[in-house]
Amino acid sequence: MTLNPCPFCGGKESFIERLDYSAAYVQCDSEVSPGVACMARGPVGMQESDDEDVPGSDAAVREWNRRAGEARLLDALKRCRFDSLNMSREDMEFITEAIQGEQK
Ligand SMILES: [Zn+2]
Repeated sequence: MTLNPCPFCGGKESFIERLDYSAAYVQCDSEVSPGVACMARGPVGMQESDDEDVPGSDAAVREWNRRAGEARLLDALKRCRFDSLNMSREDMEFITEAIQGEQK
């Protein structure tokens, strides 16, 4: 499974880290500014099958990629011109609040 860019910094230097005999997580090692590493961690995945190279990595990568997708969706929404979308007032308010919450 391919790792999507980090949901926090957008960097691509992430790797699978073993937690114990049955669990793993994805950690980002991308540099966010000179001398500063992101080090964001994804959710811990538990082993799902004996075929996994690192036990728990399938679930860990799946969760990491899901969050990366959500982060990308939010970025895309920030670039949207809402007046040109056919969107309900409730959805528009929800998205506007979510974006403003992210920017705080
Ligand atoms: Zn990162």
